[in-house]
Amino acid sequence: MLDVLKKIVQEVSIAPDLDSVLNLIVRRIQRAMSTEVCSVYLFDPEDQCYVLMATEGLNQEAVGSVRLSAEEGLVGMVVDRAEPINLENASEHPAYKYVESTGEERFNSFLGVPIIHHRGVLGVLVVQQKAQRRFDESEEAFLVTLSAQLAGAIAHAEATGSLGAMGEEPSGEIVNLRFEGVPGSAGVAIGSATVVAPPADLNSVPDKVAKDVEQEIANFEAALKLVRRDIKVVGRSLAQRLRSEEQALFDVYLRMLDDNALAGEVVARIRQGNWAQGALREVVMEHVRQFSMMDDPYLRERATDIKDLGRRVLAYLQEDAPAVLEFTDETILVADELTPAMLGEVPSEKLVGLVSVHGSSNSHAAILARSMGIPTIMGAVDLPLTRIDGRELILDGYSGRIYVQPGEDLLTAYRDILRGEQEQAAELEAIKDLPAETTDGFRMPLWVNTGLIADVARSLDRGAEGIGLYRTEVPFMIREFFPSEQDQAQTYRKQLEAFHPRPVTMRTLDIGGDKSLPYFPIEEENPFLGWRGIRVTLDHPEIFLVQVRAMLKAGEGYGNLRIMLPMVTSVGEVEEASRQIDRAVKELQDEGHDIERPLVGVMVEVPAAVYQVRRFARRVDFISVGSNDLTQYLLAVDRNNPRVADLYVSYHPAVLRALVFIAREAHKENVTVSICGELASEPGGALLLMAMGYDVLSMNATNLPKVKAAIRQVSKEDASQLLKDVMAMDDADRIQKFINERLTELGIALPKQPVVV
Ligand code: PEP
Ligand code: MG
Repeated sequence: MLDVLKKIVQEVSIAPDLDSVLNLIVRRIQRAMSTEVCSVYLFDPEDQCYVLMATEGLNQEAVGSVRLSAEEGLVGMVVDRAEPINLENASEHPAYKYVESTGEERFNSFLGVPIIHHRGVLGVLVVQQKAQRRFDESEEAFLVTLSAQLAGAIAHAEATGSLGAMGEEPSGEIVNLRFEGVPGSAGVAIGSATVVAPPADLNSVPDKVAKDVEQEIANFEAALKLVRRDIKVVGRSLAQRLRSEEQALFDVYLRMLDDNALAGEVVARIRQGNWAQGALREVVMEHVRQFSMMDDPYLRERATDIKDLGRRVLAYLQEDAPAVLEFTDETILVADELTPAMLGEVPSEKLVGLVSVHGSSNSHAAILARSMGIPTIMGAVDLPLTRIDGRELILDGYSGRIYVQPGEDLLTAYRDILRGEQEQAAELEAIKDLPAETTDGFRMPLWVNTGLIADVARSLDRGAEGIGLYRTEVPFMIREFFPSEQDQAQTYRKQLEAFHPRPVTMRTLDIGGDKSLPYFPIEEENPFLGWRGIRVTLDHPEIFLVQVRAMLKAGEGYGNLRIMLPMVTSVGEVEEASRQIDRAVKELQDEGHDIERPLVGVMVEVPAAVYQVRRFARRVDFISVGSNDLTQYLLAVDRNNPRVADLYVSYHPAVLRALVFIAREAHKENVTVSICGELASEPGGALLLMAMGYDVLSMNATNLPKVKAAIRQVSKEDASQLLKDVMAMDDADRIQKFINERLTELGIALPKQPVVV
């Protein structure tokens, strides 16, 4: 049974649209359970009822026309109870509702199972039989298991399926199509989508209108020729080692690429208007689907071959015509997985928004986007990437919503919000040169987090008093190999020079987790609990030493360098890193450089560090809390996973308690304690941290003016009272709501409310 289940789930996952998904489900379940009927009902939010969407065994004419409210019939009862109902004689049940068009009076036994997604009942799966018998326990368990596994695929197909194919005219029905994601960076953007696809990845090739059909065909044929040549070469070189039947496989591959097979179909698709890469994707994926549905395991395996051939042709097509991305004046960059390197691909004056199908609000791409002030949505898992290129989008970075092909009313509403944002920015501009000082005269130092060189000018412009976190891995990420000591020193010098005499805190390389270098891949099952941050650099003293030397050299003559160590879990790591820093200082002094040992600090980002703050504090000059990681490790919630994004809450009582504890412990050793996680960038978070006694708040440059405005609006006493009230509460959602209410009472502007359609 497990095999059947796996096969159904696999087939469904590659079905092209909602209709195919549902028809596949009913057909396969009917066959697997040997029942006479299998049907699926789905919730229609517009009509607030459950609609028969596909059936095997009932009259086909009933599909789409049978509609039941949540209180009607046995289907309604399954919805209402959100649990399976298994009856021997359905028509005798008081809830039974006879719907003539289905022809279902012929069936007696009934098993209905809810399809539940994100806690809501999305629909109902029903199997029926003539014989008067109860479905047995294993049948019920089978259907429940399938339903649980298919719910996500159905929801995904429902969400993506509503967008028409490439080139289809926007009709009245498909305006304002809405997709949900996770807010990544606040703000609104209106623009047109440009999809960036990773190379040789068939799944994410977008559809595009072929500008020159003959040229596209010629490109395709040239790529095909190269793949044919490769296959022949490999076939020949393996000829000695393969048996004749294995050798025959190479002929099969060549035949697959024949004009009468794949190639012919791709050319036909190009003639219909899609560009070569899109046409190739369509044809290959169709064949992959057909092969994966076959019962014969040998034929099923051929799906892998076709995909591999497709990928090879695609690689040559892309090599031949490297993706020339087209950017309109208002470009919204859309990617399957947004990376920091991609942010640099669009001229900054044209980039108005970012969307990533994967990742969540604290992924590093989102953090960078916030520092650049670009509205961003992460984890838009249902967005049909292949059909979005060139379409108009509204991106609501407050709510995490994307609207495709928005209508005039919605555009007007969002243009109003954009105008409001510009007015607010102008108001904040007015306090640029004023200090971050409470109404009763308490000065709160506000520093910034940087990564790109562009951050420096923006930060100074916004009145930053220092750099609390320079993420040195960012310049490493946008290169093709490790930068040399000289290269690094030049890059670091720009930050130190621009901020001089203000302090600049450089963090040593923090790779691993969700930050990988293309030239130093780290493959792990569980990267956030793996080889990350200081663990990598202590294992590679040559990388660590070069980096520290580069920092020290860059700081020569300025005296504003501070070095910070990420992901530290034990005292031994601090001591070891400290020794390496001493060694680098000594080496450079011996080489004649005029440098001193800089201030060295430790980041508190994991629970183990929380309980050792005093021990760390005795060995270093400052402590800085990385609340982004600390939150994920305290709450056991992956900061990158959109599925658990609503569980990633910085105002969780456990996080707040840890933050209070850290500040208190560090101060017992008279060591300054700062924070450089994103919590400091929220006005509410900043007030709480100020009240907890943090000596420095380091945040993204975009939010600094808002945080400053909030601090200037309150007294130290107001902030302490807010903290006291919050610490007495035990629920994160209530804390968030309470903070919002208090901020409003204190006259502090809250983020814009999303427009709801
Ligand atoms: C943090 O974890 O809070 C932090 C500042 O570091 P990063 O976000 O780069 O992991
Ligand atoms: Mg961190």
